[in-house]
Amino acid sequence: MAALSDRMRALVQPRLADFEPYDPAFTPTRINLSANENTYPMPAAVRAELDRALAATPLNRYPDPMSGELRAAIAERHGVEPRQVCVGNGGDELLFNFLFAFGGAGRTLLNLPPAFSEYELFAQMTETAVVNVWRDPATFEIPEDEALAAAAEADLVIVTSPNNPTGNLIAPEFAERLCAACRGLVMVDEAYIEFARPGASVQPLLERCPNLVILHTLSKAFGEAGIRCGYVLATADVIDVFAAVRQIYSVNVLTQAAGLVAIRERAAFAPVVEKIRAERARMLAGLEGLTAGAIGAVVWPSEGNFLLVRLPGAAEIRRRLRDDYDILVRDFSAAPGLAGCLRITVGTPEENDAVLRALTDLVKGETR
Ligand code: PMP
Repeated sequence: MAALSDRMRALVQPRLADFEPYDPAFTPTRINLSANENTYPMPAAVRAELDRALAATPLNRYPDPMSGELRAAIAERHGVEPRQVCVGNGGDELLFNFLFAFGGAGRTLLNLPPAFSEYELFAQMTETAVVNVWRDPATFEIPEDEALAAAAEADLVIVTSPNNPTGNLIAPEFAERLCAACRGLVMVDEAYIEFARPGASVQPLLERCPNLVILHTLSKAFGEAGIRCGYVLATADVIDVFAAVRQIYSVNVLTQAAGLVAIRERAAFAPVVEKIRAERARMLAGLEGLTAGAIGAVVWPSEGNFLLVRLPGAAEIRRRLRDDYDILVRDFSAAPGLAGCLRITVGTPEENDAVLRALTDLVKGETR
């Protein structure tokens, strides 16, 4: 994405002059496995219910600011009080508002990269300083003692579990220790938690960690990335702050209606999630097989709906996947800590087969 023009560099707030906007690196392709979306069709009965709900939603009235009905359904899903829930226009909006409300000049965010790059971007936009404690370069596990020491000095922590793009989980015990170490708020971003093994969520900690904030989204397991609906769970006083800083009507009526159907019909998504987990195992084995002879190649196991793979000529392979095979995956090969890495969303069996076939051709070409 273009950097700011000289004219704009002179006009924007000085701290934004070197701002590089988030670039989802999107090109229309036949098979898009670049954004960790759920590429499966929505279960037909849910889709029919959703269409009915959307058709019945009046558009002439402003939305309920706090998404009352959806909020109550989310609270019920997680066994918390509605006042412990704030719904947002995607998880992105809530991440921004978290840094806007609790970060800012003079405050420090502890970040545990390689992680979702929006954290640093929103920190920059809100003048929040960032302290990075890097994950182990081979396993991407968090160096826990170092992170705990840094958390004691930080005002905020964001930790992703499963982590995007590396797929690692954190142990709930570690999250609890982070909450004890940090004087401020600790956000655990569980955007991909539905794809993880049972018991992975830090949700049971909510009752005893008053500084814990958990982020969820309907963009991944629930296949509603286009709807833009995310939410946070926290203590009611933390939620009051999210409520106070939000754009009053940011969650539109159609989003609220579609979100409500997804939450109410959540059981219908379980087979889709199971299928993605099975395909993830198949893709992991397939990628391991095809990179077996390649020097420096690694495929990391993942608890999300994506796999990170390091392979020779990654940037060129990604380009050829796009240009010659009409398949889009995410190139992280130039990102710090991710040299030579591509991230591939786990798609449908047909999409995954197409990726494996194309990669087999390309990797053979690279290593010949
Ligand atoms: N957290 C993580 C780790 C993500 O990968 C994403 C989306 N890529 C989000 C939050 C935000 O998702 P959304 O805005 O679609 O709810």
